[in-house]
Amino acid sequence: MRDTLVLNASFEPLSTVTLNRAVVLVLQDKAVVEQSHPALRVRAAAVDLPVPRVIRLCRYVRVPFRRQAPWSRPGVLVRDQHRCAYCGRRATTVDHVVPKSHGGADSWLNTVASCAEDNHRKADRTPEQAGMPLLHEPFVPSPADAMLLGLRSGERAALPDWLAAAQPAA
Ligand SMILES: [Zn+2]
Repeated sequence: MRDTLVLNASFEPLSTVTLNRAVVLVLQDKAVVEQSHPALRVRAAAVDLPVPRVIRLCRYVRVPFRRQAPWSRPGVLVRDQHRCAYCGRRATTVDHVVPKSHGGADSWLNTVASCAEDNHRKADRTPEQAGMPLLHEPFVPSPADAMLLGLRSGERAALPDWLAAAQPAA
């Protein structure tokens, strides 16, 4: 199922919904289409509409508090764009900067994407102990970043520039 990104009236990413839900929100005048798929259309009894990729709510929704993006291994790989933090090649594993055996946590700031080779080489050591400096420091994605990170890469690549700019830099 193709997901549609939902923006608040203030243009801040809020969530993703199914295509069906997105179409309903637009037809009920609760949201406007900000970006649609150039080639695909939704066709039903009385509906003929381009497939929305991004919709924006017409009324501002107050978000009660800013949740922190929950940590996950797939999330770390996407945050680091599947690039190894030690050598820059393609990463398929997640490395704990401070190893778990040394009390290192499952957290955004203590984990980086790593190729299997470097993960194995670094083993149970810190980057200093292993002589393997990080190419970049890990960071905590904002909830809005995490929303974009959760989109499939093809969907992310298709986002308008002003939204894609909200993504963390490589
Ligand atoms: Zn590597």
